Amino acid sequence: MSMNIAVIGLGGTGSAALRFLADAGHKVTGYERFEIGHKRGSSHGNSRIIRYAYPDPLYTNLMTAAFPLWESLCEKTGRDLMVKCGGITFAPGGHPELDATIAALSSAGVAHTVMSSADAMQRFPAFRFSDDEVVVFHADAGFLRSGEIVEAQVELARDTGAEIRAGVEVVDVGETQAGVVVKTACGDVSSYDKVIIAGGAYLPMLFPQIGLPLTVTRQQITYVGLEDAAKHLCAPDRMPVWIDASTYWYGFPTDGRLDGVKIARHQMGDVVDPVMDDRSVRGSDDDAAVRVAEKRIGGTTGSVVHSEVCLYTNTPNEDFIFDTAPGWNNVLLVSGCSGHGFKFTVLLGKVAADWATSGEFCHGLADDRFRLRLPSV
Ligand SMILES: Cc1cc2nc3c(=O)[nH]c(=O)nc-3n(C[C@H](O)[C@H](O)[C@H](O)COP(=O)(O)OP(=O)(O)OC[C@H]3O[C@@H](n4cnc5c(N)ncnc54)[C@H](O)[C@@H]3O)c2cc1C
Repeated sequence: MSMNIAVIGLGGTGSAALRFLADAGHKVTGYERFEIGHKRGSSHGNSRIIRYAYPDPLYTNLMTAAFPLWESLCEKTGRDLMVKCGGITFAPGGHPELDATIAALSSAGVAHTVMSSADAMQRFPAFRFSDDEVVVFHADAGFLRSGEIVEAQVELARDTGAEIRAGVEVVDVGETQAGVVVKTACGDVSSYDKVIIAGGAYLPMLFPQIGLPLTVTRQQITYVGLEDAAKHLCAPDRMPVWIDASTYWYGFPTDGRLDGVKIARHQMGDVVDPVMDDRSVRGSDDDAAVRVAEKRIGGTTGSVVHSEVCLYTNTPNEDFIFDTAPGWNNVLLVSGCSGHGFKFTVLLGKVAADWATSGEFCHGLADDRFRLRLPSV
């Protein structure tokens, strides 16, 4: 039976939900307060790491459901939206996070190799490791072209009949006996059978009364230049994505879109208001990234090729929110991707789309850890 469904927020998650729903033959409308692919949310830019390697088996297992969905998107579009260059996680031997990552890969049956620093530098000559560091490599990792993915998914949804309302802010959502009523800033009112809200950093603004446990932070990424001689060693066929589990710095090989190598730190930045705060970059953040690049990667020039700001929407324990709005059955809230969620957005979108028609949370998203915990609920 065809249903009338709205998706609010067309970043990574919303664009995925929209295309799955359109593909299943539903009448769908996607609302996006800015233009498609804008830079005021969390999914813009050239790359996000995809990996099975997590210190937490819940996420390693979720990736077994997400990976085939990414592969199918690449097939469907005929585009290299996922680049499988492999991934490494490293830390001094015995570091608890590294040990937990190796254990999670083993228990999920993901093929991986644990290497000494000397072996790792021989295999991946772009990197510099210290003698005491241990490196775990797995081939089923790489990066997703996040900004291009959002645009491709919206395009797929539009081609399959979805209505896209870009530049339209939803200001109110309310569940009634007759359906879910959606009001926009320009005064339009529409009614739907189900509504999926994937609003990222802006989600709390739609529900100020329920005090969602979300903190929005400013995060900066930096591309550091490479000497000509180093470029071939930093290409995706020679250099995997990397995470230093002891400092949370991470990085990418060259992505074929911008020169240099992208580096950033997975650590909560300043708390910001997504609407009011500007997105200007800071020299001090770039300087820190350049220093890490010089320590970790051979042949960097010390110059900053590009940098930009993005938003994390964090829950206290970095688990996502995937739950119906308190007291309602027909409105789903999906957010709190906490700086590591892009790799799961395709799965969040698929499970949200399935929820709209079945009322069920499938795959690992049935886990209690994704339910809202509010004092009043
Ligand atoms: C610097 C940085 C690095 C990251 N690195 C990684 C990584 O390596 N690997 C990884 O897996 N993840 C990573 N992440 C996290 C990942 O990018 C995010 O978790 C993911 O993009 C979140 O997607 P989303 O759809 O929830 O939010 P968004 O992409 O922000 O989408 C939400 C959308 O909703 C719209 N919206 C909100 N409210 C309304 C409204 N009222 N009306 C209409 N539209 C509305 C917004 O405008 C926005 O477009 C990183 C994030 C950042 C910032």
